[in-house]
Amino acid sequence: MSIKENYQSLQKNIPNLVTLVAVSKTKPIVDLEQVYEAGCRHFGENKPQEMLLKYQTLPKDINWHMIGHLQSNKAKIIVPFVHLIHSVDSLKLLQVIDNEAKKNNKIQNCLLQIFIAKEETKFGLSESELEEILQIIDNQLLKNIAIIGLMGMASFTNDQTQVKQEFQSLKTLFDKYQQKYALKVLSMGMSGDYELAIQEGSTMVRVGSAIFGTR
Ligand SMILES: *Cc1c(COP(=O)(O)O)cnc(C)c1O
Repeated sequence: MSIKENYQSLQKNIPNLVTLVAVSKTKPIVDLEQVYEAGCRHFGENKPQEMLLKYQTLPKDINWHMIGHLQSNKAKIIVPFVHLIHSVDSLKLLQVIDNEAKKNNKIQNCLLQIFIAKEETKFGLSESELEEILQIIDNQLLKNIAIIGLMGMASFTNDQTQVKQEFQSLKTLFDKYQQKYALKVLSMGMSGDYELAIQEGSTMVRVGSAIFGTR
């Protein structure tokens, strides 16, 4: 199947209320254009400079999602145009984003990335760090930030039971804070596990290789 067909069949199989973010990192503009023509308006990237270049080249009605670890000193590259930052994993980063958002006269939508995997390498906040940040948001100390949900990455394993447990732990956290903080987005699920993630309550999946092929 072509890239376009991959996208169309995925979009057809995903419930209407789940947003499909096409993860286009490392892929050339021509590939993104095919998915755009098929109707996709949500693209995910993990490198600020690459996202900026693609933003400048492609139509302006695209919603750009930063899904990778973001260094504080790179926030200024994307804040002027980025739709949603999924990967906020420290208070320091959030403060920098707030400052950049202020300069751009915008409220920056962000997700807090939660550590759910059993692997050492993945970024993310613990529950106590999450609470600390939500408290600061509650006290309106970051006026140009809107925390609209949570994001997580499951372990890279074939053990479906483990992946399911990790998604459930994130959904439980989401439910716990959902009402008080008006959270709307639960970003979980990638090419290998998006179906399971949707079963467990995901509202946004980030799918790369199942659309664009291997990287
Ligand atoms: C690369 C990446 C994805 C997409 O991964 P695929 O397995 O290619 O679907 C999703 N989320 C994050 C955070 C990523 O870095």
